[in-house]
Amino acid sequence: MEVARARISATLARLRAFERRTRPVQPEVREALEARWQELPEHVRTSGQMLGRKFTGCEGTHGVFPACNFGCRPCYHAANANRVPVDGAHTVAAVTEQMAYLRERRGPGQYAQLIGGEVSLLPPEAHAEALEVMRRHERFPMSFTHGDFDYEHLEQVAVRPDGTPRFDVLSFAVHIDSTMLGRRAVKRPRGEAQLHGERARFCAMFDRLERERGVRAHLAHNMTVTPANVGEVADVVRVCRELGFRVCSFQPAAQVGDVRRWETDDRSLSDDAVWAEVERGAGTRLPYNALQVGDTRCNRVTWGLWAGRRYVPVLDDADPRDLRARDAFLRMLPGNLLFAPRALAGARLLRALLSRPDEVPTVVSWAMRYVARLGPGLLRGVHPTTYVTHSFMDAAEVGPAWALLQQGVVADDPRIRAAQERLQACAYGMAHPELDQIVPACVQHSVLDARENAELIQLLPRPNRAGPHAHR
Ligand code: SF4
Repeated sequence: MEVARARISATLARLRAFERRTRPVQPEVREALEARWQELPEHVRTSGQMLGRKFTGCEGTHGVFPACNFGCRPCYHAANANRVPVDGAHTVAAVTEQMAYLRERRGPGQYAQLIGGEVSLLPPEAHAEALEVMRRHERFPMSFTHGDFDYEHLEQVAVRPDGTPRFDVLSFAVHIDSTMLGRRAVKRPRGEAQLHGERARFCAMFDRLERERGVRAHLAHNMTVTPANVGEVADVVRVCRELGFRVCSFQPAAQVGDVRRWETDDRSLSDDAVWAEVERGAGTRLPYNALQVGDTRCNRVTWGLWAGRRYVPVLDDADPRDLRARDAFLRMLPGNLLFAPRALAGARLLRALLSRPDEVPTVVSWAMRYVARLGPGLLRGVHPTTYVTHSFMDAAEVGPAWALLQQGVVADDPRIRAAQERLQACAYGMAHPELDQIVPACVQHSVLDARENAELIQLLPRPNRAGPHAHR
């Protein structure tokens, strides 16, 4: 009798655990999302807003390895960044502190960039350890790099000394464009086409890693856009599709960071002009109002699939049926399925659908329309790609906007007020546990970086006089 009772109670405990694990959204995630939604200013609480619905925002590290060995124009790092020694122990300790704070404030299952200076200047062990720390805090980490490193560095990050893979998937965002000076193969590029070989070389390293070590990759491509290279954006979109990048992100140049590297005409490009070129490369209109990430003056995003030679966005913001499907989707499945193994993700999706049977016809009809839009290219396989523009603001606007926000004052100047609105809706935050604050990356680069670097220069031991180039 006792044995039977024990078995029944063990079975019930397992069922309860299963029920909790397969909930479409975990209570902790729901709480973090609701808190984020409450923080958002009214003007971005739109039907398509993803912040506070699907995730709490992108995150980035700061002050963890500020130095870089390139001389880009523009460069968003502060002028004193290269005087901060690269120190793996400091990197891991600072990443741990920042991630713990983000985990507490923003909940689990968020995207975080390992960013600051140039990540490949870290010893590979420290690079790997930082990624492990981020994962332990339930972040999906992405290493942000100029990509000018060799396969050996990548392999040592991905694989332990005993030959076992450290990660099943690695995510890297590579920044390659003609504003960047110092790449070994093309020191002073005269155009984007000269860099296509480097883009291919970067992807080939990850192909080899998967082939030889079984570690898959999720790759993003970043490009700073200026009046000088905007005409080549469409070509970069085409090349990135051929190379299989999953995210293709464009940043119109801003006047932030190292003032010695600003060009006077960098600010003459509008977001519309850059987006039009991305659309030209994708060969179709890219709707960015159906799903939004923060303020559209900062971010434009289109998710979609390449089916053969056609790119098909998942939602058409001019089709009311698609917008109804979006609303149903956001109601049914708040939060995201990052870190959930496939079977668990499937179970959560199924429960989400079953919990709102009235929404199912809307979702099914969207799925049928989408398959029809993909057309016969679907038979040749699909490739998911996300197109993004992220427009950092100029330091001249961010400084006063942030200072007034800290005093609770709304600016009279419409330009500064617009910057304040964007900062309040920021989708890309950096943790400052010592201030009990998550600050927008614009503020980090415009206001805080230089001071933080000055402190690190005093704090960190200088290992040798070779500086950040020592490992090469
Ligand atoms: S970092 Fe700046 S440009 Fe980016 S989302 Fe935040 S406020 Fe907007």
